[in-house]
Amino acid sequence: MAIELPPLPFEKNALVPYISEETLDYHYGKHHQAYVTNLNKLIEGTADAAKSLEEIVLSSEGGVFNNAAQIWNHTFYWSGLKQGTNGPKGSLAAAIDRDFGSLDTLKTELAQAATTQFGSGWAWLVAEGGKLKVVKTANADLPCKHGQKALWTIDVWEHAYYIDYRNARPKYIDEIIQNLVNWDAVAENLAKALD
Ligand code: MN
Repeated sequence: MAIELPPLPFEKNALVPYISEETLDYHYGKHHQAYVTNLNKLIEGTADAAKSLEEIVLSSEGGVFNNAAQIWNHTFYWSGLKQGTNGPKGSLAAAIDRDFGSLDTLKTELAQAATTQFGSGWAWLVAEGGKLKVVKTANADLPCKHGQKALWTIDVWEHAYYIDYRNARPKYIDEIIQNLVNWDAVAENLAKALD
């Protein structure tokens, strides 16, 4: 069964002015699509063709892993982006205060992880052992390979920001963390992680 490109969970202009339609045309329409196309070519006729995307991510390495993980990472990245969710509430806000001291400290740690990831990769808010923490991964690597549950992520591959921000990775990171975190999605992911 072929892996499919999931639809974007928002309109192409929903993230303007922080992420442009042109970036989404390339980042979703070309890059995310290419990982799907490549993975389907790689798994056709193999045992992986019968697995779910999550099963492939957990059981594979090399090219199959890179493409499968990048499909998962991008779908998760899109789900975490939304304008106007107005900060964490309830048990998420309490968990952030407990584990980071304040929302500002969490944002600072996320920005630092994203800014200092050398080369391509991702910065993440994860849950591990019932606690929230910030981690970063290189290339396609992702938290589920390390026993962590992903709550939110920011893509710091150059293709994520070069159209809108050119080489200014810190500016992209700051705008996303200040304006585009879908705190409702983070709260849902935390509830699932603690189940
Ligand atoms: Mn990307």
